[in-house]
Amino acid sequence: MDHSLPVPHDVGADDLEEWHERFTRTLAEALRRAGSDILGIESRELAATVRSRPFGYPEVILYDTVAGGAGYCRMLIGRYSVRKLLEKAVDALDCRAGCTHACRACLQDYDNQLLWEKLDRQPVLNWVKCILGMDQPPNPYMAFNAAPFEVKDGTPLLLAELERADHFIAVAPTLFDIQTAAESRESFLAAPTIAFVRKLVAWMAGAPGRRAEIALAQPPTFSAEFSSSLAIWHELQPRLADGSLKFWKLPRSFDGRAWPRALTSPGREGGVAWFSSSGVSNPFFDEPLPIPLWKAPGFPPETVRSFRNGWEELKITAPSKPSDLTLREYRPGEPRNFACDFAFCRGEFFALLRIEDPYVLADDWKSRALCGFLRELATLWQKWPAKIEIKTRDTGDQNKLIADLERELKQHGVSIDIRRVVSGGPDRIDFHDRRIIFQPDIVNPRRRVTVLLTGGIDRYLDRKAECGVIAHRSL
Ligand SMILES: [Zn+2]
Repeated sequence: MDHSLPVPHDVGADDLEEWHERFTRTLAEALRRAGSDILGIESRELAATVRSRPFGYPEVILYDTVAGGAGYCRMLIGRYSVRKLLEKAVDALDCRAGCTHACRACLQDYDNQLLWEKLDRQPVLNWVKCILGMDQPPNPYMAFNAAPFEVKDGTPLLLAELERADHFIAVAPTLFDIQTAAESRESFLAAPTIAFVRKLVAWMAGAPGRRAEIALAQPPTFSAEFSSSLAIWHELQPRLADGSLKFWKLPRSFDGRAWPRALTSPGREGGVAWFSSSGVSNPFFDEPLPIPLWKAPGFPPETVRSFRNGWEELKITAPSKPSDLTLREYRPGEPRNFACDFAFCRGEFFALLRIEDPYVLADDWKSRALCGFLRELATLWQKWPAKIEIKTRDTGDQNKLIADLERELKQHGVSIDIRRVVSGGPDRIDFHDRRIIFQPDIVNPRRRVTVLLTGGIDRYLDRKAECGVIAHRSL
């Protein structure tokens, strides 16, 4: 729910966490009861859990308690509106016994005994009533003299605006979404995301004194675990190093809805403030200026100061030294430079090679590509690894491919360990990034080189295809 919570002014910073917990737990219990009332089922057939989204907006997740599910939640979403659910929640919160916090007549039941201490219906009741009675004002940013700005995509707008500015500030819940990358993608990041990041970086580098400041509710994570984050890091690192890019952490009390998404030339003549009512849920790099948009004259210095109240500078932990991270992108048709991409193998011995790729043994073609790839590596490394581990999806009929592979590797004295992962049903494990990990030492996984490939190994070897490769050394 993108409505910030009505934290009372007398709740101190130390009690804020607990206040949030009580509020969201009570909301979750009210919604669980509302859902079961609407469906006419026992309240224990639904369960509710809560989490806090950036900017402190509560998120309540309802689910069926029976594994595999009777489909109650699906029914609830399919047949009833959120308004209906909230109206029923008001019924549940509006205790007929008029209790102070919660009682058996309203929210307490046998299944939520552990939460009884936390339930406090009055603040939640007022808030839900307020949401239900609320009509979205036609222009929520009237106070800033903002006018609606009709446009389909805000990104070109921001980039054009930057050409007239040398300083800008943006606010977002997160920097980028590491999960959006599709499984069969052709690059580490969605094309519009990486295009925007590169334009932004080019703008910063384009003239001396240009500065970008990005304030976030959640700090970004740059790690070898996520290839997309390394690709972004690769672009941003020089700008963080020269100080033209700075990150800030927003205080918990910051209300993303009440402030602009972006300000150009803050505190100066000719500045512009861009407001977006959906900005509170969109990562900045994925959608810099999400629609609908409003445009307002820039802020005077004192308004900029209140906007920035409580921001703390974020120190970003580098995933690597610049020299330990290489990124190479191949266009379709471009010959691969194997010796360069895998230069770290030259003359080295890796005791263990780990290959994680959902499709590396999916068919004969891919399995042969794997053998070809290993033979190429063998022209570089000093000798074959003692052990190769492969983690891949279980397709059900891989036995012959695996037997062939084992025979080939045995000739080189390599022992092989294949972990087949079930990709459907309740036991399924998802893994998306395709990576190859080179470990000099079997027992020390911290010393390693991680190579991330956008497509599989077959794609890397097939020069007709587009492909990206990142090598991250931590030796
Ligand atoms: Zn009650």
